[in-house]
Amino acid sequence: MNKTDKIIIQAKKEGRTALLEPEAKAICIEYDIPVTKFNVAKSENEAAEYAKALGFPVVLKIVSPEIIHKTDAGGVKVNLKTVEEVKAAYKTILENAKKYNAKASIVGVLVQEMAPQSTEVIVGSVKDPTFGQTVMFGLGGIFVEMLKDVTFRVAPLTEQDALSMITELKAYSLLKGYRNTPAVDINAIVSTLMSVSKLVMAHPEIKELDLNPVIVYEKGAKTVDARIIVE
Ligand code: ADP
Ligand code: MG
Repeated sequence: MNKTDKIIIQAKKEGRTALLEPEAKAICIEYDIPVTKFNVAKSENEAAEYAKALGFPVVLKIVSPEIIHKTDAGGVKVNLKTVEEVKAAYKTILENAKKYNAKASIVGVLVQEMAPQSTEVIVGSVKDPTFGQTVMFGLGGIFVEMLKDVTFRVAPLTEQDALSMITELKAYSLLKGYRNTPAVDINAIVSTLMSVSKLVMAHPEIKELDLNPVIVYEKGAKTVDARIIVE
């Protein structure tokens, strides 16, 4: 049995359908999707130790099965540059989580490497009652939310499918570079789309997957948030 199976079985045992971010990211790693390095801290001091080991700046995030949208719960603090900032953020995140949902069980606080800013894209998957596993791609923020500029394919994808999902976006020209912004690594996006296709085909129990955002660079791409829902 591979790691992905183990994680999904464990969640089912605990009666959870939403995997925790560290679980979803461990699955990403198994499918060769690059993610920000992370560790789950159970105390302020542990968070500080992990931050030092990762190198500053870091990002702290709440880990709770009851909190799916971490930002809404005041559960994400980015760009923490010192041990003091990390310890303060740890406290604030726990307080915010309690305020947001007093019944939420807290697994810990995720300490992770902060990915430099660049173009943010979204890679997703939903299991359609008719078509089965599908893969979605779009640019982050307003492009998805307001302009609905997204593309879908039925999985499994060929590399040609993945490439056409990218090039047919209205916002494709942004990915090719504009003004002082260089072109992003299209191959890195293709490879993430292919990995997601493989993952959801191998695991029909995955009902929804969201890599939101994936930050894409001139060379390479990094998934900074991952969410997986199983049946
Ligand atoms: P949410 O559960 O609210 O979607 P995210 O993990 O996506 O939480 O964090 C919210 C935002 O914070 C992201 O959209 C991204 O812009 C930023 N962010 C989160 N993690 C990182 C990271 N490791 N490096 C850089 N930016 C990050
Ligand atoms: Mg997110």
